[in-house]
Amino acid sequence: MILEPRLQCAGGMRMHDPAYLRRVRELCDANGIFLIADEIATGFGRTGTMFACEQATVAGSGGEEGCVTPDLLCLSKGLTGGFLPLAAVLATQSIYDGFLDDSRERAFLHSHSYTGNPLACAAALASLDIFASDDVLARNRVTAARMAQLAAPLATHRHVADVRQAGMVVAFELTRDGRRDAPFDPASRVGLHAYRAALGRGVLLRPLGDVLYWMPPYCIDEAQLELLASVTAEAIEETTACA
Ligand SMILES: *Cc1c(COP(=O)(O)O)cnc(C)c1O
Repeated sequence: MILEPRLQCAGGMRMHDPAYLRRVRELCDANGIFLIADEIATGFGRTGTMFACEQATVAGSGGEEGCVTPDLLCLSKGLTGGFLPLAAVLATQSIYDGFLDDSRERAFLHSHSYTGNPLACAAALASLDIFASDDVLARNRVTAARMAQLAAPLATHRHVADVRQAGMVVAFELTRDGRRDAPFDPASRVGLHAYRAALGRGVLLRPLGDVLYWMPPYCIDEAQLELLASVTAEAIEETTACA
């Protein structure tokens, strides 16, 4: 079972409740299925916790509550703070041991040309140092709360069907009349027009279809957040004025 916990990004910034994740873990355990969490986008503090999986709890073997743990965890993007390409797949001890062998018959012979690239690893270590020395998660929670405030007025716009948020990600779903079951005609390229309207005002939005979203770097400041919000509102207004 492969999923993006809490937040499915490229699929349209779809979000699910932590209860869903908990239930998936329980069903995987009950049926002997590995759970693979793709936290490439959500990992490293994006959705409010270091990893999105931590937001769901599940009973452990001894009956104690613990957070959902995948069998395989995919990481990239935030691993280096976005500065250099580096990806990693973390495995449980038992999966690791399953492939640990001197024999080439059993060992996991898989790598890439630039596996363990020293520059990328140095960038990752520097980024992890910042997590250790600064309270990044606490600061992100403050920024996320500010994003919620700035997004709130857009919720009542006549063409905004849904505003949803997971930590430092806020998505705005645009539709013909503000109902989720009344999408714009895809041929009218509403998202593309919103992108152009925002770019002309100095803000790079990258809509997924008719879903506009904010997923700013953690260092975004108050003035930049306000610009992001006002330009998003203007872009939506300009794009939907004659819709
Ligand atoms: C970016 C992204 C990927 C691709 O990651 P690479 O490290 O470029 O292979 C996969 N899954 C999610 C959720 C992503 O955001």
